[in-house]
Amino acid sequence: MPVLEVRDLRVRYNNTGPEILRGLDFSVEASDFCAVIGPSGAGKSTLIRCINRLVEPSGGSITLFGEDMLALNARDLRRMRRRIGMIFQEFNLVNRMSVMDNVLSGRLGYTGSLRSVFRLFPREDVEKALELLARVGLSDHVNKRADALSGGQRQRVGIARALMQQPDLLLLDEPTSALDPKISRDVMSLIRDLAREFDVPVLCNIHDVQLATEFCNRIIGLQDGIKKFDGPTETMQKAN
Ligand code: ADP
Ligand code: ADP
Repeated sequence: MPVLEVRDLRVRYNNTGPEILRGLDFSVEASDFCAVIGPSGAGKSTLIRCINRLVEPSGGSITLFGEDMLALNARDLRRMRRRIGMIFQEFNLVNRMSVMDNVLSGRLGYTGSLRSVFRLFPREDVEKALELLARVGLSDHVNKRADALSGGQRQRVGIARALMQQPDLLLLDEPTSALDPKISRDVMSLIRDLAREFDVPVLCNIHDVQLATEFCNRIIGLQDGIKKFDGPTETMQKAN
């Protein structure tokens, strides 16, 4: 059974506006590190945001871990979102919180709010966070404020926070577009290694085709809200 199955997915941001996603079909398997590529405005972000219902689809179906995402009540949606690690273009850290607290907040799920600031975490969570911070190379920055770090370091915090959730799927929305090319490659390489290590499937919106073909084993190409390509990375390289 696929991890994620999307059928005839449609999105309009308002009733009179254009259809931004126009009937998408695809599935993601447990072993996938799948890139969604396409020109600006193709609908890549919209697609990623639909999967955890940050954007409400206007039609079609999304089946995640065997459950119908569009039929969930608020409580079940929170439970499902806890299983999805998100990594964002602008990192979405809480700047005035420490690196450590940002990572610990992943334990609440990324919708989890600032409760973490006031909450005492169990020792095992603190140890787990320290381990993850070591793994992403930030052991020396644990107690710094998030906004004291460079862009690449902040995205590493974002990665550790997502993994703190022990996610069953990672959704990445342009994880490197705020970073320079060298740092982008380091970050993608780290995400690829960690996805293997933790055995988590990845769906990654990325506009840089070069990065997608270098790090992802599967490519979905979008244009104007329609799927134009879907296959293993090698087959796309042959097609070009
Ligand atoms: P991409 O990620 O491929 O650049 P997006 O999903 O961000 O594409 O955007 C696809 C289209 O949807 C664009 O035309 C964009 O202007 C429109 N769009 C995105 N978000 C919204 C929104 N919140 N309200 C209305 N239109 C939106
Ligand atoms: P990007 O293409 O880098 O995702 P954009 O600058 O297109 O970012 O969009 C930034 C924010 O504005 C996003 O939250 C997006 O959903 C929203 N947005 C984009 N296009 C529109 C639009 N036409 N109307 C309303 N909101 C939009």
